[in-house]
Amino acid sequence: MRRNLGQKVERVGISINISADLFDAFLKCPTKCWLRAAGESGLGNAYAEWVKSQTVLYRATQVERLLSKTPNAELTISPALENFKAGKWQIVIGKVIRAQLNSCILESELQAVERVPPISRGRPAHIIPIRFVFKNKLCNDDKLLLAFDAFALSVAMDREVNHGTIRYGDNHTTLRVKVATLTRKVQALVEQVVKLLSSQAPPELVLNRHCPECEFQPLCRKKALAQDELTLISGLTRLERKKLNDKGIFTVKQLSYTFLPRRRPKSLRYKPEKYHPSLKALAMREKRIYIVGNPVLKIDGTPVYLDVESLPDRDFYYLIGLRIGVGKSVVQHSLWADEPGDEAKIYAQFLDILSRLDSPLLIHYGSFEKHFFEQMGKRYGNTVQSTFELAREKLGQDRRESGGPWRSKNRPPEIYLRKRSKQERFMGYRRDVHRGTICTSSASGSGRGEKRAAGGPGVWAGA
Ligand code: SF4
Repeated sequence: MRRNLGQKVERVGISINISADLFDAFLKCPTKCWLRAAGESGLGNAYAEWVKSQTVLYRATQVERLLSKTPNAELTISPALENFKAGKWQIVIGKVIRAQLNSCILESELQAVERVPPISRGRPAHIIPIRFVFKNKLCNDDKLLLAFDAFALSVAMDREVNHGTIRYGDNHTTLRVKVATLTRKVQALVEQVVKLLSSQAPPELVLNRHCPECEFQPLCRKKALAQDELTLISGLTRLERKKLNDKGIFTVKQLSYTFLPRRRPKSLRYKPEKYHPSLKALAMREKRIYIVGNPVLKIDGTPVYLDVESLPDRDFYYLIGLRIGVGKSVVQHSLWADEPGDEAKIYAQFLDILSRLDSPLLIHYGSFEKHFFEQMGKRYGNTVQSTFELAREKLGQDRRESGGPWRSKNRPPEIYLRKRSKQERFMGYRRDVHRGTICTSSASGSGRGEKRAAGGPGVWAGA
């Protein structure tokens, strides 16, 4: 039976069971931990399902690899803890351990454990927990989860576990982690989980960066919308929310009535307008887009709207999207790379398209594409700047030969920042314009975590 989001978690006895699963959820979001402890089955997020299936698949493959390299005599599947301590095994698979720690029970299903025999007689063997992570890039949470396993194991066995191993990624990379240095942090986190699960009330709902990957997203969003919670305004910190609560403002609607447009003093005309959460609240309430001032983006050249997509954990750019304004019509290009080997090809195609345009002006949102230019330049040598240079030289030569004017001859060769003009100081955005070749705007504050809309009009405080 499904429980409601706010329903108290039912617990038997005084001990609170903290599994690795709950610990993992707590690292992402306290509400997620609470919901999992309450037995909620959050469905409806395709990404979360995909991650789950990949994790299971990768673990099975890695266990198989490990078993194939271990002699049968030295392999134990889920032994009793006594044998676990004394046995002459090398690898243990799928051992579930439970360890009482003060008022809680730590529980973890160890994916694998390796036993390294002692170097000299009379010394204990090293017990090394192993975790398998399918991603190609590890984050801190992966190390903390391994440290949680090690901590539970050391409490259960009453002996020190100093190191652990993570095997991860397509290349089956092995990382040795000194888990002993993370024990204090794990202990502090376990205490926080105990406090959370002992409480009668659910934690404050705070939508965050993990939400798009979370299985409870539909549930949380529905609740936030139903209660019109301030957390719907991205970019509002916990402290800012608390300050608003202290003033008696608890909903987006209440906040929206606090927006007061003011004339900016002349002395501040070159300073970017600060982000007003109240304007965003107003935009959300009225389902409108508000723009401060009268922005006009001066595009001197052929506008090329750019959007790039990548698989960050593989450092692989798989799509370059271009939308080029030609007179009143537009031409679109979607350059796809099916595998990492195709990346160089689509980058070359991208440069080729740019080199055939007259005074191209690249327009993109955020710093993601800027990073793309840097990475591509490092990987393949050819930079966007050098392509523009070549195109400009070729254009000049063609025009000289045809006797036509060369408007661009005084255009600066390098990208440089120019001062923001009055029109470019928009609400909620820090807009940097690179003149000559690249025009870029970087979203800050309100745009965080939202879908980037390359080529779209500036959305400065939108619902
Ligand atoms: S959807 Fe977001 S707020 Fe809700 S549990 Fe998941 S991470 Fe937490």
